[in-house]
Amino acid sequence: MCGIFGYIGTRTASPILVEGLRTLEYRGYDSAGIYVPGYGAVKAVGPIDNLAKKIKETIPGTSGIAHTRWATHGAPTETNAHPHTDQSGSIFVVHNGIIENYTLLKEGLKVQGITFESDTDTEVLTKLIGINYSGDLLEAVQRTLRMVQGTYGLAVMSEHEPEKIVVARMGSPLVIGICEDGNIIASDPSAIVSHTKDVIYLDDGDMALIEKDSYQIMSFEGRGREKTTEKIEWDLEEIKKDGYDHYLLKEIMEIPKAIENTLRGRLIPDKGRVKLGGLEKHSDKLSGLHRLTIVGCGSAAYAGEVGRYILEEYAGVPTTVELASEYRYRTNLKDSKSAVLAISQSGETADTLAAIRLAKKQGLGTFGIVNVVGSTIARENDAGVYNHAGPEVSIASTKAVISQITVLIMLAVFIGRERKMSLEDGKDIIEALQSLPKEIEKVLEQREEIEKIAKKYAQFQNFVFIGRNNHSPLASEAALKLKEITYIHAEGYPGGELKHGPIALLDEKFPVVAFAPQDHVYEKIVSNIEEIKARKAPVLAIANTGDDQVSHLVDDVIYVPKVHPIIQSIVSIVPTYLLAYYIGIEKGYNVDRPRNLAKSVTVE
Ligand code: GLU
Repeated sequence: MCGIFGYIGTRTASPILVEGLRTLEYRGYDSAGIYVPGYGAVKAVGPIDNLAKKIKETIPGTSGIAHTRWATHGAPTETNAHPHTDQSGSIFVVHNGIIENYTLLKEGLKVQGITFESDTDTEVLTKLIGINYSGDLLEAVQRTLRMVQGTYGLAVMSEHEPEKIVVARMGSPLVIGICEDGNIIASDPSAIVSHTKDVIYLDDGDMALIEKDSYQIMSFEGRGREKTTEKIEWDLEEIKKDGYDHYLLKEIMEIPKAIENTLRGRLIPDKGRVKLGGLEKHSDKLSGLHRLTIVGCGSAAYAGEVGRYILEEYAGVPTTVELASEYRYRTNLKDSKSAVLAISQSGETADTLAAIRLAKKQGLGTFGIVNVVGSTIARENDAGVYNHAGPEVSIASTKAVISQITVLIMLAVFIGRERKMSLEDGKDIIEALQSLPKEIEKVLEQREEIEKIAKKYAQFQNFVFIGRNNHSPLASEAALKLKEITYIHAEGYPGGELKHGPIALLDEKFPVVAFAPQDHVYEKIVSNIEEIKARKAPVLAIANTGDDQVSHLVDDVIYVPKVHPIIQSIVSIVPTYLLAYYIGIEKGYNVDRPRNLAKSVTVE
């Protein structure tokens, strides 16, 4: 998920490799490493600077590969950092992505007497290449790729063939840069642009043999492939944002990919079940729970609230959601059959960490849903599920929140199938989850229409968001996003609460955004909209495609596909992220870095 860089040419490689890594650092990193043939690997935990300091003098050699890691399997330690080495110590691999069948492959390799140093999936891949090596690196990689499932961008070198870099791509980008003095490979053109503008983008299923003055692109079976060289037209800043104007928009547009990565290797469609590696050992405890208390802060707490509706309805688990900052200071009545589930993107949120420490002290089981592998919360919990949503740079969280809700749905299946959920229901939910990325695409396709609506609504100074059932926490989440990104005052309420107070605020200048999916409380939200219209407040509805009852009532509608109710909340929240983004842009704010906020709230 992070960065790969490689160089083979006539210049000294090590400074070029380190510089290449520095340009990839913006994507998030936890450790880094390089390999130069004839010298070996150097690795360091933390920023690239730590690696640079470790490389005291220029390493001789004109080729090498390098990596910045964003851990998915195994904590960010020096041992887990890339490059990894095979059993003979002569093959070196850097890898982005996830090898899904690594556990199975690892078991098989252990039987053959292979030992492992790290906890990574990448080391398994490396050892396999080692086993398959008989003098030809390209062939060894080809053979290995037939055995692995998952996503990868990878670069491989061998001590015995220092004049070659073998690369392959499946689901994780790789670009070749053609330079005057050699060739570069990188996971991202940002690392190439200072050397050359001539690049070749590899597609999934492509591999390449790169040498100093040549490159050959082929399929995994070795059949040659023709690729045209393209010119990079973007500047560095544009590349980092994938051509989008802001990280926030880039990350919203990445939501389908983030969901795919969250689900990857975890669904068992024919059994209507999910596999959550970290939780398997605790499955008895989880299925016997009397109560689950979810703790989190901000958006993570709202994701937890959505999860509460889902866990109670589909898994029959009584669930409470507590703001971590409150939980840590109040009297919590404990029950030996209850557990605490912490949700945190960074895994460092101070209040959430304090809440699980308290729960632990009380003897409760603690679990986590965390994006950053090896973070403190991930380490201190009994067990957990990683989001694999990829690094999030924008302060306002979007793809990570969606991924948190996705994990909670998987958790509902994980526990539910041990309790009351039938095979058929399990299968339906798995199918729904599989369809989720493409349903979200349908929402993202409406970007331009949402931008127009945003321009119209940007003039208002106050907003209320309403929703019912699992869309009621979404109302709070959408309001929070609007506050963070646009500094507009916004509140989120369950639809039924409106007439108990907030309706007093409404007039022509106080718009309401109403989540109105066609679920079992649809008629109720429609009545709420009628009540609002009677007070002349403008209403923007998020409604299901084809719903013309709502469209006649309201001022504006954004349509989202009607999907299985368990995933509807995810599909519904996405347009409100775009709405907040475009309103923020309209008002001229720095949407990636809103004032007064930090990405990882490590203080109380
Ligand atoms: N799955 C690999 C690991 O955890 C690669 C992570 C990455 O993409 O940086 O080491």
